[in-house]
This record gives sequence, structure tokens and C-alpha cells, in this order.
Amino acid sequence: MLTKAPRGTGDILPGEVEKWQYLEEQFKKLCRDYNYKEIRTPIFEHTELFVRSVGEDTDIVGKEMYTFLDKGDRSITLRPEGTAPTVRAYLQHKLYGQAQPVKLFYYGPMFRYDRPQAGRFRQFHQWGVEVFGSREPLLDAEVISLAVAFFNSVGIEGLILELNSVGCSKCRPSYREEIRKYIAGYRDSLCLDCSRRLETNPMRILDCKEKNCKEITNNIPEMTGHLCEECREHFKEVVESLEAIKVSYRINPRLVRGLDYYTRTAFEIIDPQLGAQNSLGGGGRYDDLVEVCGGNTTPAVGFAIGLERALLALKSKSIEDLYQEKPGVFVAALGNKAGMEGLKMVTELRHEGIKAEKDYLHRSLKAQMKQADRINARYVIIMGEEELEKGKVLLRDMKEGHQREVTKKEITAHLKEKMGR
Ligand SMILES: [Zn+2]
Ligand SMILES: [Zn+2]
Repeated sequence: MLTKAPRGTGDILPGEVEKWQYLEEQFKKLCRDYNYKEIRTPIFEHTELFVRSVGEDTDIVGKEMYTFLDKGDRSITLRPEGTAPTVRAYLQHKLYGQAQPVKLFYYGPMFRYDRPQAGRFRQFHQWGVEVFGSREPLLDAEVISLAVAFFNSVGIEGLILELNSVGCSKCRPSYREEIRKYIAGYRDSLCLDCSRRLETNPMRILDCKEKNCKEITNNIPEMTGHLCEECREHFKEVVESLEAIKVSYRINPRLVRGLDYYTRTAFEIIDPQLGAQNSLGGGGRYDDLVEVCGGNTTPAVGFAIGLERALLALKSKSIEDLYQEKPGVFVAALGNKAGMEGLKMVTELRHEGIKAEKDYLHRSLKAQMKQADRINARYVIIMGEEELEKGKVLLRDMKEGHQREVTKKEITAHLKEKMGR
């Protein structure tokens, strides 16, 4: 127990963490370019927030939440997703009073008590965006293009963007009834979850991965044929906007988002090479959610991307391909007096923005040179007591393979010029 992390969690060690940092840097940069501002919400919230917003009938709320009573007998839940907390913060801090739309992004760990499997953990990481305050289909296209741009920027190829419209509270109820009637005849062939969904949420049956359920729903009439005029128009404009900014897509009429507050645009980004769990992320509109959470009617659109799955898709790429680590300087100090000078030297270099490292184990010069190799040092400063007494050091250029004497005073300025800041 003491030396094993809880099931479904993991440590991210050096060697792997560089890939995480790479992904994190890429999406933060993209968010800045797209003018999205970061929001950081607590790791836990009142349970009621998720029960209301994510919905009691979902797997998340029904089976997967980390819920506990705190010492004050309040029911607390570790956040299973990022949208509800963002909506809560939008309302709590009256962000609706600011110029709209409010464009936010978040990043961090989420928690679901799920059966751990490839790319699926109990503590996992998502980044997502939420935009509040505009119904514009052009905005849906922007949000979708940001998700697509992320995968493009990190070099994950061969993905498919799937797109659908799930209608609105005006046009969906009649469609839902039609599905219920159509599927009721096959009740006995449905999987356990779907026979329950038939009563509570028949649209989600379209999304079931079970073979039997898939066959039953194969010939079901499509939502796109049942959209009201406003929804049809909205969908058309989303599609046209995506085409205008050259984002390719595939319409998938079976793509649904089960809950009532999801409206109109739904999308998912799929990696066909990943098998059954092939969704790397997705999102869409949720024009009715802010109201469900106690606010005024506020249109909204967003998405979430799972970092673990993105890393699976990245697996074949080595860190060196992705992440150009900046070259550094190794200070090889020999002897006790030189050791202190070495510490002063690395401190000075670091203050100049140059990556620097020294030995802390009194290694031989030969061993220190090996260490310099391991950290991929471009230069090594060799400090022997003799040179130091003359106010000099040896500067070895590891790439060119030559070395020369430089005065200690000049060394920092010299390296700053060579390595740039
Ligand atoms: Zn509609
Ligand atoms: Zn099913």
C-alpha cells in the first residue's frame, strides 16, 4: 500500500512529463491566439451542482462520482468534468455582466470512479473551453476549429471530426417520441442500460456501442430531418462556416448528447486507430444549461479534450521530435574551493536565462563530462583551482570539440551572446 498509488491513478515521471508539458504549452498558446482566458475552479464542488447539471440519469452521476461527506456533513464531489464548475463560476462572479461573449478555458485533473483501462484513469486530465453569451453559428465554428487546431499543432494526424445537430427544446421532444416508439418494438433485444434509457432518455440509445443496440438503431430516422427551422438554419451556417475556414468534417446523425440542456451543434473528434474508445474529445452547444444552474437563459458552447487519450495518439512520436529541449551549460568544478565558485557560476548563468547544472557528488572530471553529456550540454565550463587562481576558466565547446581559456569575468557575457536569451 505504502509504495503503490491508488488504482486508476498514476505518477507522471520525467521522460513522460515532457510530453505533457508539450501538450499543455501548445493548447495554452492556442488559447492565447484565439483570445480565451484561463479560469481555475476548485477540485471539488457541492454534489448538487453535478447532479443537476450533468444529470442523474448519466453514468457519471449514477455510478462514477467521487462523493463524500466532509466534516461539516456537506456532500462534496471531486469534479468529474469541467463545464458545470465553469458555469457555476460564471454565475457566482456575475461574468454575464461583462462584455459578451465570455471566452474561457480550463485545464486540470478530473475524477471518475470508472474501470481503469487503456487511456482511462480515475484521475484524468482535461482541457476545455466554454464560451458564454452568443448564439452565433460562427462561434460554434470557431470553437470546433480551436479543438481541431490543437490536434494539428501537436501533429496528431488522421483524425475525423464528426458533426451533428441535436435540435432544441422545441424540436427534440417529438423526435424523442418517435425514437421511443420505433425502439419499443425491440425492447427485449436492447442491452440493460438501453432498456432503462428507453424510459428515461431514448436518444442516448443511438449512442450505444453494443452490437445489438447498434443494429436496432441502424435504420432509425435521423434528427437532422426533424429539426425546427431555426435549428436547421443554425446547422447549415455552422457547416458553411467550417467550410469557409477549411475545417473538414463528417456528418454523423447518430452523434447525440443525451441531456436536455445540450442543444443544436454536437461534435466529436475521433481517432479511428484507437478502437472502441476512439473519442479524443468533443463538445457542442448547451444553450439551456446556465438556466438549469439557476441563471438567466444564456447560450453557450464548448468542448473538452482528454489529455491521456491525446497522449495515446501521440505515443509513436518521441519526445525529441516534439520538444526541443534548450541546450545548456555544465559547470565542471574540481576541488572544494572550485565547488563554491561553480555554485556561483550556475547561479549567475541561470539568472541570465541560461540553463545550467553542476555536480554535487565530487565526481572526477571524466565522470562530470559524462554527466554533461547526459544533460545534453552545449558548453562545459571547467574550473580547476589552478585556473581560478589566474581568474580564468576553460570553456569547452561540446559540439565543435575544442576548448580554450576565458577569463571568469567575461564568461557569462560570452555565453549569453553565444546562446541568446
Ligand atoms: Zn429546434
Ligand atoms: Zn445499448
